[in-house]
This record gives sequence, structure tokens and C-alpha cells, in this order.
Amino acid sequence: MKIPFIPYGHQWLANDDIKAVVAVLKGDWLTQGPLIDEFEKAVVKYCRAKYAVAVSSGTAALHAAFAAAGIGKGDEVITTPLTFAATANAVVYCQGTPVFADIDPRTLNIDPKEIEKKLTKKTKAIAPVDFRGYPAELNEILRIAKKHKLLVIEDASHAIGSEYRGKKIGSIADMTIFSFHPVKTITTGEGGMVLTNNREFYERMRVFRHHGVVKKPSKGAWYYEIENPGYNYRITDLQCALGLSQMKKFGKFIKGREEIVREYNRAFSKMPEVILPLEKPYAKSVYHLYVIELELSRLKAGRRQIFEDLKEQGIGVQVHYMPLHLHPFYKKKFGYKKGDFPVAEHYYERALTLPLFPKMTVKEVHTVIQTVKSIVSKYRV
Ligand SMILES: *Cc1c(COP(=O)(O)O)cnc(C)c1O
Repeated sequence: MKIPFIPYGHQWLANDDIKAVVAVLKGDWLTQGPLIDEFEKAVVKYCRAKYAVAVSSGTAALHAAFAAAGIGKGDEVITTPLTFAATANAVVYCQGTPVFADIDPRTLNIDPKEIEKKLTKKTKAIAPVDFRGYPAELNEILRIAKKHKLLVIEDASHAIGSEYRGKKIGSIADMTIFSFHPVKTITTGEGGMVLTNNREFYERMRVFRHHGVVKKPSKGAWYYEIENPGYNYRITDLQCALGLSQMKKFGKFIKGREEIVREYNRAFSKMPEVILPLEKPYAKSVYHLYVIELELSRLKAGRRQIFEDLKEQGIGVQVHYMPLHLHPFYKKKFGYKKGDFPVAEHYYERALTLPLFPKMTVKEVHTVIQTVKSIVSKYRV
């Protein structure tokens, strides 16, 4: 018998999403039509921010934000090693230098005390990541940024919908990045967005996503100039139709995630072989990922064995993430080495991401719990 496979994340599309996209296909605009503005407005309203620029991916959003911030050759951007490669890669696109600062072992987000140790004259920005959807320690980070005149560019690819001290993520940092890849909490297929309250950043990013085209209507309706070459980072109306339709159901998606997390927490908090990350009362996570740490001293098997056993049983576990400083490019180019960020490395060696997506059935949730329990008990010392 083939064991059904439960992936670690999955989009939730329904007939209304399909109808919304088909309506665009039947209309006049496939791209650069009215739905881009509409989608931006919907997200801005939801996050209580001022401006948004929707682009073709979360990575393009990061690139646009770092470019708008003026990151250039030799400029340093402090970020966490525990993130997807795009966070640091986008700094490299701008010829900047990503400078990693270790994480807090309890929240798994960048540790403000470690940020302070990494400040130099070349530091231009701090780029915290809201890992798993759980907000980074933004008050502390903003305080450091203010003191040293730095920008805060928040990679909230996991965290649209999360809240920090009563404010929605998206309205707090100088610029905030969202991703709408299908594993994220709402999707446009591919897609991303930058939110900001700064008019100048907003205008720069609109030009950046469309080749660097600056229109000069006083010289004719056709007339434009390129002052700096931009990129084609446009999002399409097709994608924005999907995004708008997903936004309408976002509350339901979040509730679904919360219910599964409650079930998981109830089961796993009783297991001494499993460590759950800490949540503070003033931060509300949208739960993009459900991550656990294995207490390896209580187990006869390593993470790899347990990962493979779970996969074999149909549980689509993942590992988020191998710390970025361990990738060959970051080692070679910036001289990082194993041992540089012991907290992130310690986490990585024990980390597992379990399936979490709102369309999961109660039965699937229980299958995950039972399978983890039985594999852990098999290896218990
Ligand atoms: C998904 C993700 C990105 C990149 O988003 P894409 O839309 O896939 O380009 C960037 N940073 C983090 C932390 C992510 O999880």
C-alpha cells in the first residue's frame, strides 16, 4: 500500500480563486492592469501601512528594497544566518556585504545583542527576518537603528498577518518584504511586495520594478527617460487577482494554522525529546512554519535518521535552514566558517519542520503527531 504523503506546506485554492484568475484571462489586461493597484491597496489596508509595491517575487522585493535604501559597494547589512538564501543574496545583488549576527536560541530570531557587536562604520541597514512567522525583536532593533542612523529592512516573507506589540507586521520597519510563493501563508503563484511609509522609497521601487522607466509627461505622453537601469520585476494582473482572492480568506487561513499549532503544542510540549521555540506575549505569529528541535542527548539516532524515518512514513518534514554562512559562496566570498555562529549551527543540527498548512485535515494532524511519537519512542535512550 502506498503511504499518503503530507507535505510541509501547501497552498489552499478554491473555486473563487480560480474564477478570479479566469476573469482576468477573459479581460483586457494580463499584466499592468488595475488589479496590481487593488492588490497593493488591500495589503496596505490590512497591514495599516502607507505604500506598497507589488513585484514578481519575494526575492525581487528584497532586491528592490535594498536598492531603494541605496545599498551599494562595500555597504554592510546585518542579518540572521537562519534564513532563506534570498535575504543575503539580495544584498549581494546590490554589491553590498551581508554581515551575519547570531540568533537568540529561544525565539530563533536575530539577537539584538549580537547585532550591536557587528556594527561598523560601513553598516547601512539591519535586515531582521521573522523566522517561521514569529516577529523579530523589532523594538530593540529599531532602537539600535535609530541610535546609529541605520535603516531597518524586514524580511517578513513568513510573516504577513503577524503582529508585534499590537501592530501588524508591515507598518513597523522602514521597509517590509512579503513573499507570495505557494508555501507561504497566501499565494499569487510567484509574487512579492514591499511595504513602506516612506514616499521616496515607494517611488524608487516603482521605477525599479519597471526597467528604471521615469515618465516625463511634460515632454509628451510617450516620453520617458532611464536614469538608472531597473529590472523587469513586474507582477501580473493574473497573479494579483489570485492575491486579492486569497486576501479575502486570509483570516480563515490564519485560524486554521492556529488550531493545528494548538494541537501540535499540546502533544509535543509533553515530550522531553522535543524542544519548542519560545513565544512572548507581545508577539503574535501567523505560523508559517512549525519547527521543533530534537533533544539529541535523549535520542539514540541523529536528526538525519529521524528525518528519513519520518519521510518514509509519509511525513513531509523539512529543515529550515542550513545557516547561510555555511554555504560555499558565503564562505569563499566573505570568509565565514563553521563555528562562527554557534547558536544557529546548534539549532540547525537539531531542527525539523513538521507539516503545517490550513488545509490539513484533523486526521493528517493526528497522523503527524502519532508518527513523530512512535519514531521518537523507537530511538529513546
Ligand atoms: C520565501 C522567502 C524569500 C523569497 O521569496 P520568493 O518569493 O520565493 O522569491 C525570501 N526570504 C525568506 C525568509 C523566504 O522564506
